[in-house]
Amino acid sequence: MTEPQPQSGPDAKTVTVDFKIALEDGTIGMSAVVPEGQCTITDLLPVLQSLDMSLLSSVEEQIGEAGLKVSCKAGCGACCRQMVPLSLFEAESLAAWIGTLPEAVRQTLAGRFHAALRKLADAGIIDRLTKERWFAREDSAWTLPMDYFHAGVPCPFLIDESCSIHPIRPLVCREYLVTSDPIHCAAPETLQIAPVPVPLHLAHILDRMGAELEPGTQGWIPLVFLFAWMESGAHPGKSYSGTGPEVLHEFVSRAKYGEHPKKPDEKEAAS
Ligand code: SF4
Repeated sequence: MTEPQPQSGPDAKTVTVDFKIALEDGTIGMSAVVPEGQCTITDLLPVLQSLDMSLLSSVEEQIGEAGLKVSCKAGCGACCRQMVPLSLFEAESLAAWIGTLPEAVRQTLAGRFHAALRKLADAGIIDRLTKERWFAREDSAWTLPMDYFHAGVPCPFLIDESCSIHPIRPLVCREYLVTSDPIHCAAPETLQIAPVPVPLHLAHILDRMGAELEPGTQGWIPLVFLFAWMESGAHPGKSYSGTGPEVLHEFVSRAKYGEHPKKPDEKEAAS
């Protein structure tokens, strides 16, 4: 498969935005280079990926000081059998990337998604995913993801136990890191997995934005539904559009402990 690259925004002119986000136990200062002109939240994904990686490397440094080490590495794809919650905006971005692939490659990928869906259907998971409001009930919110995992269906993007879209993989995949023995990742029900505590999940912010667009849903789709979702031709990112600083403000304002970057007009009013 063609190695994907992070996509650049639609506007060559950029502007640097400095902002702070209040976390549970402190404040983190961040800086993002965003398009000066019009863009959507989907266009901003490369920026969010870069912010996420910088957050996660500081988390890794902190746990290193405590003598811990992330045990995730290429070639270990145990966690890639989980149901991956893919934000609507990342679905849109992946759909655009898939649209650039040569037809034969796209067909191969479509076949991988189809095979995964068939296996999940045989295990009765698809019916439960589509017919129940499973995420709204405490029992099924736990058992359905567990049953999905035990169906043993790898993510269609997993090739030779490595992520074939690593540079553009979803935020939720980036934010799932563990320090425990990888053997435990194959048996999550034993509760032996030690996830790295991430102070701010940027993936959750995208989910919140998706849920605002589709009230009554969790704001994401299971990644395995991507090709089916693409049939809708939806462009959810358009609902969050504006200049780069404005769209970044929309995103950061939904951080759980958010201290927001000022909107450009607020800056002007303040100066
Ligand atoms: S997108 Fe990549 S990292 Fe995420 S579950 Fe699929 S193969 Fe794993």
